[in-house]
Amino acid sequence: MRLNEYLNEITKGTTPRVKAIYSKRLPEVRNEFEKRKWNINDTQSIDILNNIFKKNNIKFNINTDKSVHSGNFISYGASWDDGSIEIYLKKGFSNYWKRYKKSSELFEDFDDNKFFSELFFTLSHELIHKRQTFKAGGKDVDKETFDLTGSGPSGLDYYSSKKEVEAYAYQAYLEYMTKDGVSPIFDFYLSTFEKNNPTRNRFLKKFYQYLDKQDKK
Ligand SMILES: [Zn+2]
Repeated sequence: MRLNEYLNEITKGTTPRVKAIYSKRLPEVRNEFEKRKWNINDTQSIDILNNIFKKNNIKFNINTDKSVHSGNFISYGASWDDGSIEIYLKKGFSNYWKRYKKSSELFEDFDDNKFFSELFFTLSHELIHKRQTFKAGGKDVDKETFDLTGSGPSGLDYYSSKKEVEAYAYQAYLEYMTKDGVSPIFDFYLSTFEKNNPTRNRFLKKFYQYLDKQDKK
């Protein structure tokens, strides 16, 4: 019951396809984790996630590249031109499960599900790239495949590329829909790219397109 409420909230505004993926996979993950009373380390957690998400061609790894900028749990995502997606998790991410030893607490509080929310936003972003690749006839639209979930300015070229602007505008829109109008990504783009900057304009245009579509639903 609680999990359903969480899923409804987090998938607000997304496409039926993304909604279907997350709504199917997350209860499976929860069940496997609960079977083990959330007493699982990084490697075991990765095995479970891989087993469940392989149905959607999504793979998980531990990030070993210390130079990569990071979110709280997820270091970065990557989408490949064969249509697969890889998510790199921060070492020690499974320490988070310790708060969930009393499993009934899980998913009671929306804000308490930071790991699963971060995963959702990252996956949504990568699924946009998957669609871009598909539209481009199976070839990656450009050579950038790595995504940073943190908002550090690690290369403005990366954040300015057309495919990233589209994916981040979508991510910002989803954040906006689910976090009471708070989107760190929206704030990042507006504080980084000044007025009349083409990247800022393109980002805002995309962001409002997603919002408009939502209003018409
Ligand atoms: Zn991206």
